Amino acid sequence: MAEAVIRVAGLGKSYATAAGLFPALRGVDLTIKTGEYIAIMGPSGSGKSTFMNLLGCLDTPTVGDYFLTGENVAHMEKDALAKLRNRTLGFVFQGFNLLPRMSLQDNVALPLVYAGADKETRRAAARVMLDKVGLGQYAESLPSRISGGQQQRVAIARALVNKPRLILADEPTGNLDSHTSEEIMRLFGELNAEGITIVLVTHEPDIAAHAKRQVRFLDGELVSDQVTDSLPFNGMGIGAVETHPPPGLPLEGGGVPPC
Ligand code: ADP
Ligand code: MG
Repeated sequence: MAEAVIRVAGLGKSYATAAGLFPALRGVDLTIKTGEYIAIMGPSGSGKSTFMNLLGCLDTPTVGDYFLTGENVAHMEKDALAKLRNRTLGFVFQGFNLLPRMSLQDNVALPLVYAGADKETRRAAARVMLDKVGLGQYAESLPSRISGGQQQRVAIARALVNKPRLILADEPTGNLDSHTSEEIMRLFGELNAEGITIVLVTHEPDIAAHAKRQVRFLDGELVSDQVTDSLPFNGMGIGAVETHPPPGLPLEGGGVPPC
């Protein structure tokens, strides 16, 4: 059996607000094994980004445990956490988050600066990753010179440059048209075929259908977990080979995939 890249147990996050503590995430248990491709779904405000930020070590939980490649990082020191994050995972954001005054190559090389690699190594590695996402010819261009879909590919190259075993992507196609979204999803599919574990947030069923497992959040709780493997999405939920509805909850929409 493949080992767990991610295991969270009783994970919770509350935010301090003027009205008091707001529980954005409540008691989430989830294990993700090496090589999985999982989509996290749920309506706006259901806690998806809160959860992803915890998985990406961008925030710390209020309660619970988070084992990242076996290490409990829930209460790890900031510096140690940054190091572990840098060598283990790449994060892709909805808004691409490229630095506007840096060339594409320098943007992609940025994680290697934090990892302490020398300049030549950084440039060479960044160029390999830009080639991989089909944008090597634009290495010296600024982000403003390329399209949104191309910018997201650069952001994926940046996420890959440290050779992480895990890619976390929060609504990576949220700012893209459907054709460009499909291109980005093809790239994620290729990366997963190479053995990289992928966790992706989306509220679009056709995007989630690219993943092999769909998890759904509602009001800060994980309410369903379906394994669909890579069978084609047909809009009827047929192809679900294994389902794990929580006790007392019927399969949503009589088998129609969650949206
Ligand atoms: P999603 O990504 O599913 O849309 P989020 O995780 O962003 O949901 O937010 C979950 C809930 O937590 C929402 O009600 C949101 O308003 C609230 N929330 C998120 N971040 C903060 C914050 N920094 N302070 C207070 N409340 C927050
Ligand atoms: Mg969100």
